[in-house]
Amino acid sequence: MIDLRSDTVTTPDEAMRDAAAAADVGDDVYGEDPTVNELEARAADRVGTEAALYVPTGTMGNQIAARVHTERGQEVLADRKSHVVKYELGGFAQHAGLQVRMLDADPRGVPTPEQIDASYVAEDLHRPGTGLLCLENTHNARGGLAIAPEKIEAAADTAHDRDVPVHVDGARIFNAATALDVPVTDLTEPVDSVMFCLSKGLGAPVGSMLAGTEEFIERARRVRKLFGGGMRQAGIIAAPGLEALENVDELSTDHEHARVLADGLAEIDGIDVQEPETNIVLVDVSGLGLDADGALERLRDENVLASAFGETTLRFCTHRSVSREELDRAVSGLAAAFD
Ligand SMILES: *Cc1c(COP(=O)(O)O)cnc(C)c1O
Repeated sequence: MIDLRSDTVTTPDEAMRDAAAAADVGDDVYGEDPTVNELEARAADRVGTEAALYVPTGTMGNQIAARVHTERGQEVLADRKSHVVKYELGGFAQHAGLQVRMLDADPRGVPTPEQIDASYVAEDLHRPGTGLLCLENTHNARGGLAIAPEKIEAAADTAHDRDVPVHVDGARIFNAATALDVPVTDLTEPVDSVMFCLSKGLGAPVGSMLAGTEEFIERARRVRKLFGGGMRQAGIIAAPGLEALENVDELSTDHEHARVLADGLAEIDGIDVQEPETNIVLVDVSGLGLDADGALERLRDENVLASAFGETTLRFCTHRSVSREELDRAVSGLAAAFD
């Protein structure tokens, strides 16, 4: 099977397994795990923040961020198609007592300054007040779009003018920086906190990072404990995370593979391909007279796996555990599946 469902299916390589086996460890709840401490310092340095926190999942990182930035009962502004809205079980309501004000953000999934101004709610006797703006980069559900620094800056500046903090769900922020050919700090500098995943294209088996100011991370550390994310000898899993940080330069290969895949898909009559910007390819299969599940079934018969991303939409995601040779086989399989 050539598994293009997600970049989360990457498995740890030898270097990661060796690093795990050799890791210096201690009790991280006591702050005594040297490997976790090193990972947090290196991650903060990478994204240009004062501090960072190792968290079990990206979802927990986003949820902690919302809890720390807000007061119960406030509103969060987020794109209707963002991960925090679609795929986190309404966690903002459950974990932080927040109401989400969903925006039909511009086609790239970034609320415009006008939208932010129009959706902002000032606190008064009747109204809850806006407590957070949440952005996403790359934007997963809109096709792995790499959001440029200027867009992030425009949105963040508008929020900041209203004293509203800004969090970026940057699960794949290094993919964005790679695609845009900018330092990742250009994407993080305008905002107050960022989460990124080690466990996706970077290839670590587990873990994400939440980054921000010292004060923010100090509070985030308490909320991580509250949410049950305080881990003990976590150096065992943090060590592969340190290796994963070294894989950033290889993301461009995944992007090249996505373009190859998109070109192959575009050859097939009845498939409508969204031009990929990073490692995600969205296609509409309605022209084949199939729904997403029907198309996936055909693909499975050709040993290719993808994800259903809507009634008639499929998502393909390239990653470091699929070689160029396997990718080429997948492209032939696609042609055969929809012949
Ligand atoms: C995968 C993903 C997350 C969450 O990561 P998990 O580690 O799976 O919880 C958050 N945001 C986006 C955009 C993602 O793609």
